[in-house]
Amino acid sequence: MQVLKDLIFKLYEKECADCTNEELYKALLLYTKEQLAGKSCPSAKKRLYYISAEFLLGKLLSNNLINLGVYDEIAAYLKENGKSLAEVEELEPEPSLGNGGLGRLAACFLDSIATLGLPGEGVGLNYHLGLFQQEFRKHKQFETPNPWIEEAGWLIPTDVTFMVPFRGFSLKSVLYDMDISGYHSSPIRLHLFDTEIVDESIVGEGISFDKHDILHNLTLFLYPDDSDAAGKRLRIYQQYFMVSSAAQYILQEAEKRGCTLHDLPEYAVVQINDTHPSMVIPEFIRLLTARGLSFEEASGIVSKMCAYTNHTIMAEALEKWPVSDLEDAVPQLVPIIQKLDAAMKEKYPNNKDLAIIDEKTSLANMAHMDIHYGFSINGVAALHTDILKTNTLKAFYDIYPEKFNNKTNGITFRRWLLACNRPLTAFITSLIGDDFKKDAFALERLLEHQDDPAALEQLLAIKAEAKAACKDFIWQNTGVEVDVSSVFDIQSKRLHEYKRQQLNALYIIHKYLEIKEGKLPIRPVTYIFGAKAAPAYTIAKDIIHLLLCLQELVRNDPEVSPHMKVVMVENYNVTAAEKLIPACDLSEQISLASKEASGTGNMKFMLNGAVTLGTLDGANVEIRDLVGEENIYIFGQSSQEVIAHYDAEDYKAKTYYKNDPELRRCVDFITGPEILAIGSRKELRRLHKELVGKDYFMTFPDFQSYIAAKERAIADYGDRMAWAKKMLVNIAKSGFFSSDRTIQQYNEDIWRL
Ligand SMILES: *Cc1c(COP(=O)(O)O)cnc(C)c1O
Repeated sequence: MQVLKDLIFKLYEKECADCTNEELYKALLLYTKEQLAGKSCPSAKKRLYYISAEFLLGKLLSNNLINLGVYDEIAAYLKENGKSLAEVEELEPEPSLGNGGLGRLAACFLDSIATLGLPGEGVGLNYHLGLFQQEFRKHKQFETPNPWIEEAGWLIPTDVTFMVPFRGFSLKSVLYDMDISGYHSSPIRLHLFDTEIVDESIVGEGISFDKHDILHNLTLFLYPDDSDAAGKRLRIYQQYFMVSSAAQYILQEAEKRGCTLHDLPEYAVVQINDTHPSMVIPEFIRLLTARGLSFEEASGIVSKMCAYTNHTIMAEALEKWPVSDLEDAVPQLVPIIQKLDAAMKEKYPNNKDLAIIDEKTSLANMAHMDIHYGFSINGVAALHTDILKTNTLKAFYDIYPEKFNNKTNGITFRRWLLACNRPLTAFITSLIGDDFKKDAFALERLLEHQDDPAALEQLLAIKAEAKAACKDFIWQNTGVEVDVSSVFDIQSKRLHEYKRQQLNALYIIHKYLEIKEGKLPIRPVTYIFGAKAAPAYTIAKDIIHLLLCLQELVRNDPEVSPHMKVVMVENYNVTAAEKLIPACDLSEQISLASKEASGTGNMKFMLNGAVTLGTLDGANVEIRDLVGEENIYIFGQSSQEVIAHYDAEDYKAKTYYKNDPELRRCVDFITGPEILAIGSRKELRRLHKELVGKDYFMTFPDFQSYIAAKERAIADYGDRMAWAKKMLVNIAKSGFFSSDRTIQQYNEDIWRL
């Protein structure tokens, strides 16, 4: 601790005990950055570049201290001096560079790449105001900017710059780096490109700004609203700025290592995380041909170097850019994309599904370009990859079976266990030693303790402790006082109709009505939500409105509130997730089967001893296979049934609404007098109409089976020892979901570093 002590004295000319938390935070930041800078990154001829529009990092201080192996020492040192590391950590702003699962996955991957000592780097953009900060007013979501960059922070300025050409002007990109630590290993770099002239002062009411002012808005926000033409074009500008900077950087670095460009695939492999970075393919071709390579050679090189990860089967999320918008923003790419398209149309003249540019709509399909001109395409869970092969991308699987592969997602256990749940980590260590910190499969040894009452009691005690801590967090965040002896039922994830928060809401209404009729539940339950909705996603915001109205209704009803509480946590982010997940009893993973590619929240909850209530979707399928039927609660239609309904277009919400009076009563409650007394008619009516008239994500058919499964779980919770055993089996079997395993598979099958 002498180094830290000296640093504190050098900075402030006083001792630790006399410093404010702000001073200590800055000192620890500096200390950690120096420690990381003192370690060299893994070097090798061939390097991986993981390009992603998002990196949802979470706070970095405690995670870095754990990875550096000094957390306990520093916590003890601060404590000796009357300080608390936990309080100091509170001062760190969370970098706001991501949106949800996809961005968090990218962050977990960086941790694992570093931990495994692989020569890899992340590449993205340095959004100044992030996604947005969510605020609740009048039971509705409002968006405000989420500034996170401070003078003293993790970003390291560099003198690396590139010129990025657009129609009519060029913009200079400047590079900032961040050191990303691995567990007891060398750090790796995250490269974040930015512009010098981005101007935060152009932001007006909420998160509104002039979408045409590209010179000043380019790196303000992640995913600016693209519901209008200017928004769509801004996304093209952002994406091209990211990939042109990345491609120029990759070429420059490869040339420094002796690459002649003809041998580029021996120097670099690029993982395209979802379609946002897809324009890197034509951009590489542009740069290579400008350096004298033929078009054929350049496209051949790119095809050996780029690999694509698909994250969704939902049509609206598979990006298609109007060729006219590409012309307006990045005209230099259009002839290249047209040439790539023409080659494929010539090769496969009879199959329109394989086209990059759709002839009728003149839309360029980014995923199609990735698959034709990348050497690998992977899905993110076994079921998801199967659906890609047999449905969504079948035409491509038929011609390129060898390109398709599965890489089931994972999470870093350093953040999602070691950092966020120290009591559980200590307990596991006391039972099985600490091999599991580097080799997650070692958690299986916990199974030896599944019938040990003392161990099971201890596990329940740790959960109770986490719930008590979470109660404080919920109180501060929402002003709702929850009962720690109730079941903590948590659904926290982005708000999307396919994730079906609305199904959970209908269940809550069902329970509310039962209690009002005098049918009391066997034990109290706290229904906890955390979710941001995309600013232009109307129905998603209406669902948030309903949940906030339910929170208010229940809280103020003394007849109901001893039996249930509804809590909607504001501004769900990594920091909030780290508080909620250790406290969870029942993990809600209730997507419409076939629609959730993988999910990673499900893995975090499982690792922290929650039991899953879910549909057979995404990685839930693999969770079920690992823990067995008796340690998970599965309900609802299968993915095959759902796909068959979509194919036949035979689902009618109205039929269920008419034939199931219990369901009808719950749905009509949305626009009934109790909720209307709290909420606003327009939003609630719109939601009601959407459900009864469309219900595109088929909540109604699963309503009864959801109730049955949830009742079963809540009843089983009463047998505390049997429940603790389920918890233990879930933890023991979670090793497969370590992102170290995922990254090892990416490396073995795709990157070959
Ligand atoms: C893990 C995580 C997600 C993804 O959750 P899913 O349930 O897989 O959708 C989203 N947001 C945050 C903050 C997370 O930590």
